[in-house]
Amino acid sequence: MNPDPDCIFCKIIAGEIPCFKLYEDKATFAFMDINPANEGHALVIPREHAADVHAVSAEAIAATVVTAKKIATAVERTVKPDGLNLLQCNGPAAAQSVLHFHMHVLPRFDNDELKLNWGLQPGDMDAIGALAERIRANL
Ligand code: AMP
Ligand code: ZN
Repeated sequence: MNPDPDCIFCKIIAGEIPCFKLYEDKATFAFMDINPANEGHALVIPREHAADVHAVSAEAIAATVVTAKKIATAVERTVKPDGLNLLQCNGPAAAQSVLHFHMHVLPRFDNDELKLNWGLQPGDMDAIGALAERIRANL
């Protein structure tokens, strides 16, 4: 692949930064978001480093969507939300904060009032780790 030594998600894939891993395969990697907008918020990334939807290859984005479906189903079974967004952000106005293409698997709850550009609030790491274990069991 083509890791960027300054990219936090490339470092997660390489195991240089810890994460609550949910799943990996030859093209993709999935893990819990540590600033969850809602309980069960997960991220799916291609192994390929590409900043955004414009830069990512067709093969990598296709593989990422397939993994996002798999993770969405496991999150749905585990958290039983009222709804779920698959979401992907590009550029500052869309509040993209990490320049490695990623899809949010974002559970939604009735009246959660979540806006597209939500603020990042650190989650409870013990709770996120415990939930990751339950989601993995539902994969
Ligand atoms: P975006 O705003 O679409 O670029 O989303 C980036 C997401 O990555 C945010 O929801 C962050 O909470 C999340 N994030 C950043 N660093 C980490 C990390 N080390 N582990 C897990 N999630 C992270
Ligand atoms: Zn990267």
